[in-house]
Amino acid sequence: MDDLNFNFDFDINFNIFDEYHKRHPDGWYKFHYESRKLLKDKCESCGYEDELQAHHIDQNYMNNTVENIQTLCKYCHQFWHKVAKRLNKDIAGKMPVIVINS
Ligand SMILES: [Zn+2]
Ligand SMILES: [Zn+2]
Repeated sequence: MDDLNFNFDFDINFNIFDEYHKRHPDGWYKFHYESRKLLKDKCESCGYEDELQAHHIDQNYMNNTVENIQTLCKYCHQFWHKVAKRLNKDIAGKMPVIVINS
């Protein structure tokens, strides 16, 4: 559970979370677990195979369907949310694949 805070910061729409949390104080842990189960074995953007996290494309942490979970490494995840914030986007959406021409 060491990445708990990270996903908490980025992938929670706090309005939805507050409403839900009032009724189910443990609910977030359940949803976190559900999203972890859908993780792929490498980052869908850069291909890194370590420090993987579940990125909720629609930013609704309760929506743990295959279509809504993008596997991102910690670094891509952080980067993508920072870019979205800088562009004043409330929802980061899906991160594209990083292609490096060698
Ligand atoms: Zn990555
Ligand atoms: Zn995310």
